[in-house]
Amino acid sequence: MDLTITPLEQANLKEPPRNDFGFGNKFSNRMFTQKYTPDKGWHEATIGPYAPFQLDPATAVLHYAQEIFEGTKAYRSEDGRINLFRPWENMKRFNRSAQRMAMPLVDEEDHLEAIIKLIELEEEWVPDPPAALYIRPTMIATDPALGVRASKSYLHYVIIGPVGPYFKEGFNPVPVYISDTYRRAVKGGVGDAKTGGNYAASLFVGEDASKKGYSQVLWLDAIHGRYIEEVGAMNICFVYEGRKIVTPPLTGSILPGVTRASVIELGRDLGYEVAEEMLDVHQALADLEQGKITEVFGCGTAAVIAPVGKLGYQEKEYWVNDNRTGPVAQKLYDELTGIQYGRIPDRFGWIHTIDVA
Ligand SMILES: *Cc1c(COP(=O)(O)O)cnc(C)c1O
Repeated sequence: MDLTITPLEQANLKEPPRNDFGFGNKFSNRMFTQKYTPDKGWHEATIGPYAPFQLDPATAVLHYAQEIFEGTKAYRSEDGRINLFRPWENMKRFNRSAQRMAMPLVDEEDHLEAIIKLIELEEEWVPDPPAALYIRPTMIATDPALGVRASKSYLHYVIIGPVGPYFKEGFNPVPVYISDTYRRAVKGGVGDAKTGGNYAASLFVGEDASKKGYSQVLWLDAIHGRYIEEVGAMNICFVYEGRKIVTPPLTGSILPGVTRASVIELGRDLGYEVAEEMLDVHQALADLEQGKITEVFGCGTAAVIAPVGKLGYQEKEYWVNDNRTGPVAQKLYDELTGIQYGRIPDRFGWIHTIDVA
């Protein structure tokens, strides 16, 4: 790739924070950008200063939400090197999302190369464990026109910034609200694309759940209002009798998480039975009450594994494992973060290491 690296203005440089990372509100001094037009294709690939964009008020993305994004992390290992976790999967998914949203594909190798170069330049922004560097590739439609059609021009960019734990609870169980009324996505829609509109549609319900004391919303399928799909920005897993992990199959309205795929592979490797099965919410809640379901947890890049301590459904509360983190969630969390931070050998070929001088 023809990548231009432009100098930073020394006067405005920020220092990376040493603690108090928050989640997603601190960014490094540089970002990657490239532009797309039908005649030139992708061009002007640049790593330059992190800076606001100037956009025409009519810019397509601001009106019709033609937008996609990705989320992955870089982890500082004990020997000082930097690990990316299955970044190829994020590059592939970015293109799958692009295709669904009628956007141009990007070269997956170039995309990863740009991310690696950006991290190399911003190496001091990769914090020590348990923090990590969050990587946010994004593409937006940039035609300055209100006609409803796919844009012709696009902006692809990548920003990075250090992040601490996703939940204020840390690695402790979170309360999750099952929405009986609202739906996140429907089969045939865009639920399996990582696009901002899915989140926009979820915010109202999220606020409502938050007022009720819940930190996430668990979504049911839109056709029957019955089958469990996923939770917030995470996929969901139920543990039966401490040994069988069940997660809903990817039916088209669920985002195919990299963490989900890793839990399936790792879970089997650790000797658990892992099944992708439809979970009827009434059956699941009954199984929970009867003690058959011993754990529930979400999985996603941000939190890695997020134990669920309580489910709320139709004005009723269902406690999970007495609101404590269970052994399966703990084991998967330790193994996954162990591989990510290089404390455990990577027996799956999931890690791409960046050697920094
Ligand atoms: C990103 C995302 C996930 C989790 O995917 P990971 O690749 O594991 O981070 C799950 N659900 C939704 C809706 C998402 O946007």
